[in-house]
Amino acid sequence: MRFKTIDFSKFSSMKIGGKFDVEVINECSQIKNQSYLIGSCNNILIGTNPPPLMILDKKYDYIKIQDGMLKIGGATPSGKIVSFCKKNNIGDFEFLSHLPGTLGGLVKMNAGLKEYEIFNNLIEIKTCQGNLKQNDIEYGYRYTNIDSPILEATFSFSNGFDKEKVQLFKEMRTNQPSTPSAGSCFKNPKGRYAGQLIEEVGLKGFRVGGMEFSSKHANFLVNHGGGTFDDANFLIKEAQKKVYEKFKIKLECEIIILNSEY
Ligand SMILES: Cc1cc2nc3c(=O)[nH]c(=O)nc-3n(C[C@H](O)[C@H](O)[C@H](O)COP(=O)(O)OP(=O)(O)OC[C@H]3O[C@@H](n4cnc5c(N)ncnc54)[C@H](O)[C@@H]3O)c2cc1C
Repeated sequence: MRFKTIDFSKFSSMKIGGKFDVEVINECSQIKNQSYLIGSCNNILIGTNPPPLMILDKKYDYIKIQDGMLKIGGATPSGKIVSFCKKNNIGDFEFLSHLPGTLGGLVKMNAGLKEYEIFNNLIEIKTCQGNLKQNDIEYGYRYTNIDSPILEATFSFSNGFDKEKVQLFKEMRTNQPSTPSAGSCFKNPKGRYAGQLIEEVGLKGFRVGGMEFSSKHANFLVNHGGGTFDDANFLIKEAQKKVYEKFKIKLECEIIILNSEY
């Protein structure tokens, strides 16, 4: 067994969390049901008492063209995917240019922006429980039913990297804060925007300790520095409570909270 100590106050995009020993996974026989696999922690809020953690080894960080398809390892960062596509004049992955994560996390979350989602070009994934074709997987908005570590994914692609699309995706993010966050805190409920609901219950710009529902975009829970798990958790619960009281809408977290009750 190989562990590495990760300081989540530096590693996670929210810059919250302590130092924990994380088991490095080289092969599926190491996977334990009671442990939790992380990618690059761009969508996770780590608590003070998380479950045992695992992370894929660097050997799963690769990208190649094989038989006219893209094969990408589970630990490959989105930035590397975009660079590869640019270099090889490959289209369809431009939306990843400002969407942080590893391939495993992107597929598990069906990450995307508007109509551009990672599942659009997905053909199949290789997991610790065998291969799954796109049709075998239940997926939707920021949701999949994948419950086994994703080691690799295969994608179709079109020719031609589109620089204008990269620019378009950059512009789509101009209303988002650059302060540390984990992206959208809540999923948008049907027909509504979570950010709008947070604003309508008066929590836009509301701050507890170092954490705030950003005054730039209310659905971004940002860390101004020194924000803690308790600050973040309090704000999440407060938004859920107030939105439910006023609109009878249950705000569902897009952020994954990893703490003892997991
Ligand atoms: C500034 C910012 C902007 C963002 N904008 C967007 C956006 O526009 N659209 C969007 O969809 N998301 C967005 N996000 C959220 C985040 O980028 C995505 O959810 C991304 O997919 C997380 O990838 P990760 O590797 O960091 O996964 P993590 O956060 O580490 O994990 C997320 C989930 O994936 C699972 N997972 C990780 N690796 C694997 C694996 N190999 N096999 C199986 N499961 C795995 C974890 O168990 C967990 O359930 C944003 C985040 C930030 C910080």
